[in-house]
Amino acid sequence: MKKLIIANWKMQLSLKESLELAKQSVKKIKGKNIIVLCPDFLALPYVGPILKGTNLNLGAQDSAIVGRGAYTGEVSPLDLKALGVKYVILGHSERREHLHESSLIINAKIKVALTGGLIPILCVGEKLEVKKNGETEEYLSREIAHSLQGVKIKSASDLVIAYEPIWAISTNKNARPMSALDADAIHKFIKARAARILKKPVAVLYGGSVNAANAGEFLSQKNVAGLLVGGASLKIKDFSHICSL
Ligand code: PEP
Repeated sequence: MKKLIIANWKMQLSLKESLELAKQSVKKIKGKNIIVLCPDFLALPYVGPILKGTNLNLGAQDSAIVGRGAYTGEVSPLDLKALGVKYVILGHSERREHLHESSLIINAKIKVALTGGLIPILCVGEKLEVKKNGETEEYLSREIAHSLQGVKIKSASDLVIAYEPIWAISTNKNARPMSALDADAIHKFIKARAARILKKPVAVLYGGSVNAANAGEFLSQKNVAGLLVGGASLKIKDFSHICSL
């Protein structure tokens, strides 16, 4: 079955480097999976034409809580759609942490993104202390319920969830990937919680220190529909290998 593999380039590259990586990606990434590259906002209008007509899709890393209005510094999902963006990452833990985005804000972003014709990739995941306290399931249930409250989708492919335990994200202190078997069990749990709200069986991706060596193990799990990749998506050799699995 085709897997969904998302590259989150974050704010790690200059515009020039983003264009170079996009060109390399078109040359090197092959295979049957659905691949999405998410450059920063500034690079989107330049990366879009490079990906046009290829098997690579364009994604954004965020979008605004409304379609139009007096929202200084924000980027409308309507303009993203017009640029050829198909997917948008919403509620990434870095935005929740550094920009204090609440699930309420993320909920509004999801609704507007859907209305604008984008596929939201809702990120959820717990901090290390939540895991240590054995409260992961309660925490995720709350995060999913608040983020998806009142969200309506027509088909299961209209929205994607990415489970990214914060303690596993490679740029965080002492990060390590979770075991693929543990990931499978949590993905099953998340799928069930989301299906209860959305009435549709949406795909759940894994993210957190995925690399060329461990990606295959995650992708072979029944409940893992794909991957959200940060650090390894910046290395074309590693990322093209992950995409080929
Ligand atoms: C991320 O932050 O979305 C992520 C998955 O990062 P990494 O793959 O580098 O852990």
